[in-house]
Amino acid sequence: MNDSRALIIGAGIGGLTAALALQRSGCRVRVFEQAAALGEVGAGVTITPNACHALNHLLGEELVEHICHVPASGAVKHYQTGKTLVDTRRGDRPKQKYGAHYCQAHRADLHDALADAVRRNDANCLVIDRRFIALEDSSDGITARFADGSSARGDYLVGCDGIHSEVRRALWGDDEPRFTGYIAWRGLVPTAALRPEFLVPDSAAFAGRGRTFTRYKVRRGELFNFVGFSQRDEWAAESWSERAHIDEALAEFSDFAPEVQAILDAAPPDQCFKWGLFDRRPLAQWTKGRATLLGDAGHPMTPFLAQGAAMAIEDGVVLARAVAASADWREALTRYEQARYERGTFVMLQSQVNAKRIYARDPDRLDRNSHRNAEALGLYAYNPVTVPV
Ligand SMILES: Cc1cc2nc3c(=O)[nH]c(=O)nc-3n(C[C@H](O)[C@H](O)[C@H](O)COP(=O)(O)OP(=O)(O)OC[C@H]3O[C@@H](n4cnc5c(N)ncnc54)[C@H](O)[C@@H]3O)c2cc1C
Repeated sequence: MNDSRALIIGAGIGGLTAALALQRSGCRVRVFEQAAALGEVGAGVTITPNACHALNHLLGEELVEHICHVPASGAVKHYQTGKTLVDTRRGDRPKQKYGAHYCQAHRADLHDALADAVRRNDANCLVIDRRFIALEDSSDGITARFADGSSARGDYLVGCDGIHSEVRRALWGDDEPRFTGYIAWRGLVPTAALRPEFLVPDSAAFAGRGRTFTRYKVRRGELFNFVGFSQRDEWAAESWSERAHIDEALAEFSDFAPEVQAILDAAPPDQCFKWGLFDRRPLAQWTKGRATLLGDAGHPMTPFLAQGAAMAIEDGVVLARAVAASADWREALTRYEQARYERGTFVMLQSQVNAKRIYARDPDRLDRNSHRNAEALGLYAYNPVTVPV
């Protein structure tokens, strides 16, 4: 399978990881992205050890440590008083325990590093301005059709086109994403704009009633990423994300600790984005014929375990290993799905469960015993580079 032709739909973190991993296995890869330019949103992403293994494998530890900030420590704090309710030692501890860092990155930095590595392997691999609309599966190959009338042919196709996946629709029919009742404001603040006492610990989540606010350092500590979650009955905007004025977030979190106010005050007013959070029911399977799904296209992940990008990254590495180990596309896609379906679906469902738990809890009673995160579920102990495939 090492000279197989892979068609990848979507150049998000999942699509680019899969492309790079498949290239490393010797495959000929084309990635088709609907956007007119490659890029990622101005926001942060947490990379837990399970995903960090994959990035170390694909990009090298030196580059990963350059892109990602390793927080020395983290805390869950009371939303109003700022008092530490749970503290988490980070630094080298996750690396010693799991073999790879717990770290945080600007999404654009990670996306750029993956795209650069893919292009270095093949300057023509990434094709922009190509919106996938349909596929045709036949005995000797699969054809992807695009909105501009063009098409591409390969041995197998991987839908990495996110929660609103057209590949998923083409394979499994209509199944509209459901609004979860949660919305998020995200933005970035220059660290230099904040008072030093607001910078510790490196990473913190403020737990309130029905609302949370998380902030952590990215880009070698130069920027603070923030994300504030709240609840709404409906999401009226046409798109699932939109530009928001920072005053909206300030009003929403006006009763939060001074540190939260300071971060929002320092945010560039026109650089705040608001997201409606959607999910879906799990699919019974991802693969049909020569096409499969990867990342949010197969298991759209709410952010309440910070594992969506991590699962897409894991998928990409395991897919390439399945391809490298198989005699034909059918065996490769079967091996991939067998290795990934249970974990992807479990994490997707646990993320939904965790949202209910987080927003039902009383911050005045929160402590280490009642706090649960992805580590408590054992998710960090997985290594996609070595797991049996
Ligand atoms: C507020 C928030 C915070 C989050 N925080 C974290 C976190 O800390 N850690 C974490 O691991 N995860 C986090 N996540 C989840 C994570 O962002 C997603 O799970 C992850 O980005 C999924 O990656 P993906 O590549 O599968 O999909 P996407 O990132 O959605 O990429 C899909 C790509 O496909 C393209 N595309 C779509 N349709 C087509 C088409 N028809 N033709 C061609 N191209 C197409 C899109 O333009 C896009 O480039 C968060 C999510 C949100 C909303």
